[in-house]
Amino acid sequence: MAPQIQSIRGMHDALPENTPLLRSLENRLRQVLISYGYEEIRMPIVEHTELFSRSIGEVTDIVEKEMYTFADRNGDSLTLRPEGTASCVRAAIQHGLLHNQQQRLWYMGPFFRHERPQKGRYRQFYQLGVETFGIASPDIDAELIIMTAQMWNALGIHDIRLELNSLGSPESRALYREELIRYLEQYRDLLDEDARHRLYTNPLRILDSKNPQLIEIVANAPDLAESLDIGSRAHHEELMQRLNAAGIPFTENPHLVRGLDYYTRTVFEWISDELGAQGTLCAGGRYDGLVEQLGGRATPAAGFAIGLERLQAILESRSSSVYTQPLDAYMVMADDDVSEYGCALSLMLRKAMPGLSLRVNCGGGSFKAQLKRADKSGALLALIIGIDEMEKETVTVKLLRDKSTQFTLPQTELVAALPSILTR
Ligand code: ATP
Ligand code: MG
Repeated sequence: MAPQIQSIRGMHDALPENTPLLRSLENRLRQVLISYGYEEIRMPIVEHTELFSRSIGEVTDIVEKEMYTFADRNGDSLTLRPEGTASCVRAAIQHGLLHNQQQRLWYMGPFFRHERPQKGRYRQFYQLGVETFGIASPDIDAELIIMTAQMWNALGIHDIRLELNSLGSPESRALYREELIRYLEQYRDLLDEDARHRLYTNPLRILDSKNPQLIEIVANAPDLAESLDIGSRAHHEELMQRLNAAGIPFTENPHLVRGLDYYTRTVFEWISDELGAQGTLCAGGRYDGLVEQLGGRATPAAGFAIGLERLQAILESRSSSVYTQPLDAYMVMADDDVSEYGCALSLMLRKAMPGLSLRVNCGGGSFKAQLKRADKSGALLALIIGIDEMEKETVTVKLLRDKSTQFTLPQTELVAALPSILTR
């Protein structure tokens, strides 16, 4: 036998037993997006590498060590998208969606990061991303957060908390950055390698360090909130007021900074304790500088991304939730000569009964073997066609979940009779 080829580490198949849950998850999220009037956009999975290095930031984890970057046959440097915001901004600029307009956009799909695979962290993972453009006021920040709360509701996820921070304007952030560097320099020798590396390139990231040895240093660091400019402070106050009015509890976390460079003002995360270490289900915020940074006209923007595997893990952990794709009927051909007749009948049935899920036996097999397949398929009933049925234009219906019941109907009565047979 030839050697088997396995999938790439950290990249997983979703098998038929998993896809009904995924589809239900995606549908419920889509329903909330539609109810808020958001519109779908789809972007390519591969982009020019420069798009990500210019937007996410050269000294972020993603750009420094997590991107799948390769040269295509022309020698151009391309990258499998590690996140969606940059691509969405690129598309919005390219297609003129931004000038004098507001946009509320969403997308769902796979993203790629070369991280160490572990529970809740994969190399190919799925995100729902939402981006809004052209709205500078905090009402849209609030709408985004309230909408995510609706999503948790729709999924029955209640054990989840919201953390909120403001990163201020680029100017106030720059001042704070200098102050933070001066503070951290005093503890230079105590910093770990990662933090020392970030000290002059991305010091705010050190606030987010998971290293327990740094906790005390970080806890006593100067407070970002005290450096906020007046405009950002007012923006943040109004957002908090709106969340209070909507009855959404939150905690302010002055060390919430996010791994991407382009955020300004609002940043937020939704965190669940059900998942252990990888508890962040959703992360987002405002990124007013990004459109200009990518060559568009200055445009205010805010959005978020949800990690779908983490929602999947929560739903899967609920023993109460059962997700299946129910099959209504399985058609059994009791004789080779009725195959074409059966096929025509199945076409008629599907046309007459939208929503009917009917699987037709293919590949032959004895009557007994076909009935066994029908039973294993999970279908509620078998539609049995033999020579006799073909000649008399009838169908024999066998209720598979109620072994004793079997009866024969004229074909003309089948469509009218099936709905009540299926629900009894
Ligand atoms: P984390 O702190 O977990 O690394 P991040 O800041 O890198 O997250 P974002 O880029 O903001 O994450 O992505 C938004 C969401 O996408 C995360 O909150 C998480 O739910 C999910 N996510 C990010 N990276 C992965 C991954 N490698 N595998 C699975 N889900 C991921
Ligand atoms: Mg990450």
